[in-house]
Amino acid sequence: TREWQLAARPHGEPTPGDFRLVELERPEPAEGQVVVRMLAMSVDPYMRGRMRLGPSYAAPWEIGETMQGGTVGRVVASRSAEVPEGALVLTNAGWRDVAVLDAAHVFVLPDAGVPPSYHLGVLGMPGLTAWAGLFRVAGFREGDAVFVSGAAGAVGSLVGQFARLRGASRVVGSAGSPAKVQWLTGELGFDAAFDYHDGRVADLLATAAPGGLDVFFDNVGGEHLEAAMGALHVHGRVAICGAISQYNAIEPPPGPRNFGGLMVSKRLKVEGFLVGDHTDLRPQFAETVAGWLRSGELVVRETVREGLDQAVPAFLDLLRGGNTGKMIVRLADE
Ligand code: NDP
Repeated sequence: TREWQLAARPHGEPTPGDFRLVELERPEPAEGQVVVRMLAMSVDPYMRGRMRLGPSYAAPWEIGETMQGGTVGRVVASRSAEVPEGALVLTNAGWRDVAVLDAAHVFVLPDAGVPPSYHLGVLGMPGLTAWAGLFRVAGFREGDAVFVSGAAGAVGSLVGQFARLRGASRVVGSAGSPAKVQWLTGELGFDAAFDYHDGRVADLLATAAPGGLDVFFDNVGGEHLEAAMGALHVHGRVAICGAISQYNAIEPPPGPRNFGGLMVSKRLKVEGFLVGDHTDLRPQFAETVAGWLRSGELVVRETVREGLDQAVPAFLDLLRGGNTGKMIVRLADE
């Protein structure tokens, strides 16, 4: 089997030399273990955080450790009664083609008539992140005007659509290219969108949301957060999901300049969250989103790279905006 390991801690933007592809002997499965052949693996922004030393909600990866992350695979051999051969499973086995895993560490998926990779995106962790952040953390209500940054990504593209499907008065998004902006206002049905390279975010947002905002779902941080704070109504609500504009920063910039003043004068509610704290929402999330997928009301797009060799380029490209929708590495056909 082949796997990617962390070879060095990046300084600023990661480079290919920070990763190493190694070939390993595959162990025989012990009692209670299964052999999983991976069909698709995920690359996600949080992985940049795991590569760095320092305080965080999860321990950093060690040098020489397998790059971890969500994968979907097929059980090709089983020594477990719970997880039969042939089952489709979700694992956290990371960037590798085949893995021998404890059955307790794999989650059997329904063969739901969707591409397996959807369990890494719309029906998986990013989907639940969008759901929990919008509906629970930001307390979205029908009639709210919503702004989401990073709107053409895996999480953001779902936040905007969930808000639209649940009756937002206005859905606004920002993204990093004209093609992404066109996708948002075209196929995804956003009311307005802008390319954040086109000027000051505060000015672009004022044009896109002239009536102001009730909810801001932030994937980007920095200038986006500052601009949104300025555009929020009194009692506006902010879900801080991520701050990807700062993930490669060697020295993170100071926070929004208007934070203290506006938090008080507008009585804003700003709350960071981790998807892992909201898994109780999974049943209602999965049922509703599966319904929207069946009815065709929800648009899903993936950017797919082929083969384990492409895992590093896919990850580096994700951090630079090379994806529209969820970035997926396909490892094998069914
Ligand atoms: P995306 O699919 O959105 O991919 C990342 C995107 O970030 C890129 O496509 C790029 O799009 C954008 N980006 C990169 N650099 C910048 C920058 N300097 N300024 C603005 N945008 C930038 O990833 P995900 O949907 O998986 O994740 C989105 C966010 O959600 C991330 O911040 C992530 O850390 C966070 N997250 C948080 C979770 C939680 O539990 N709190 C769980 C999952 C994700 P563009 O072309 O538009 O620049």
